[in-house]
Amino acid sequence: MEPAPIRPTLVTCPGCGGESLYASSNPSRPFCSERCKNMDFGAWASESFRVAAKDTGDDLTDGLAEPS
Ligand SMILES: [Zn+2]
Repeated sequence: MEPAPIRPTLVTCPGCGGESLYASSNPSRPFCSERCKNMDFGAWASESFRVAAKDTGDDLTDGLAEPS
């Protein structure tokens, strides 16, 4: 058996396209930094929220109405 070399795993950051350290020491992985992580998540979340609000807006109002 070969001993596994301890070396950092580098991946491409989805935010900026640069090198990102994929390790437990990088809480923002696979992004290179928290800034890139927030940028990507912000874009995804706003788009997702827009679709969700459009689809469930009316049903949500009816479902929350309490019977008297
Ligand atoms: Zn980045």
